[in-house]
Amino acid sequence: MKPNKKLLVLAGDGIGPEVMAQTKRIMDWMAKRRTISFDVQEGLVGGASYDQHKTPITDEVMADAASADAVLFGAVGGPKYDSLPFDVKPERAILRLRKDLGLFANLRPAVVYPGMASASALKQELVEDLDIMILRELTGGIYFGQPRGIETLPDGTKRGVNTQVYTTPEIERIARVAFELARKRRKKVVSAEKANVMESGQLWRDVVQHVHDKEFKDVELSHMYADNCAMQLVRMPKQFDVIVADNLFGDLLSDIAAALSGSLGMLPSASLGAPDARGRRKALYEPVHGSAPDIAGQGKANPLAMMLSFAMMLRYSFDMDEQADMVESAIKSVLATGMRTPDIMTKGAARVSTSTMGDAILRELDKLAS
Ligand code: NAD
Repeated sequence: MKPNKKLLVLAGDGIGPEVMAQTKRIMDWMAKRRTISFDVQEGLVGGASYDQHKTPITDEVMADAASADAVLFGAVGGPKYDSLPFDVKPERAILRLRKDLGLFANLRPAVVYPGMASASALKQELVEDLDIMILRELTGGIYFGQPRGIETLPDGTKRGVNTQVYTTPEIERIARVAFELARKRRKKVVSAEKANVMESGQLWRDVVQHVHDKEFKDVELSHMYADNCAMQLVRMPKQFDVIVADNLFGDLLSDIAAALSGSLGMLPSASLGAPDARGRRKALYEPVHGSAPDIAGQGKANPLAMMLSFAMMLRYSFDMDEQADMVESAIKSVLATGMRTPDIMTKGAARVSTSTMGDAILRELDKLAS
């Protein structure tokens, strides 16, 4: 058995605990099969934490997150908490985790699984077998740059200001993540910016190129204007492997990529920080979806985004590509049999509950391991 990995599990609210429960069954399966064992700690987050501690995340849970090898996060929020003051809203927990753990790199894969191409907003043949990764810088750029604000001008009209700002180290570190990701995939990076009209874009392009030439010559790098990249993503998405972009353009491009692959219930994500002395990055893995209060407690939630987030954790935090491949293969096989939770239901498919989907994934893992 490989040495223990310290994992903090924060299931959260609504469907968070439901999809996490199915993912924990995979962890138990792995421990039983002696492929990997986790030292799992659990904590309250979001509304669940507010109910007990009057805060969406306690300092103790933050300390646990800081000392864990990875954080696996479900979802937070719900109507019960909508009228709370901003600083204790459940969603503040995610922002605090991102900020305090320094998670500057947001990974959003867009994968189209067998039989799922019809759920895409695009023509089936354009997205069949799609497997791309959008990497978004998460802690800099125009969402944080100073000066910012709205001022009233002498004539009574107003002026709104935000500042796009990036420094060399900020660009270097996200570029390195992009190239490292590409090395685990098809070794191609497209860097998207607007170097034609923005100085910060010109710097972005120069620095990404420099990091490439110095450290990652084995990876193919090309540059694309972000508007063209958006168009190419819709026109011919399969041309891409890894796309890296700043906070603003990455925000837009990752949402376009999400629409390519269909349901929210299928989209995982990862947020990574800087490597420590052992070369290990702080990391948080979570489905893109929220707590889905409209279906919570009804056995309707799709657990696959959560399970795929767990697979990302195996791959990117623990270098366990073999185990990550197994989880992803099990998911592909189950989808290929036509089993569907209600959110991804198609004509002729078999509609199943959250836990029945979990049963099917475990059965498939058994088959793969035998
Ligand atoms: P949502 O993602 O929770 O749900 C949007 C729609 O998608 C709903 O109809 C829901 O039923 C469906 N859906 C989402 N995940 C699904 C799954 N796994 N299986 C099946 N169907 C699924 O977004 P929302 O409704 O805008 O927000 C609900 C709550 O979640 C709010 O309080 C919001 O602030 C919070 N939220 C939290 C996160 C997070 O924890 N990271 C992210 C987004 C929203």
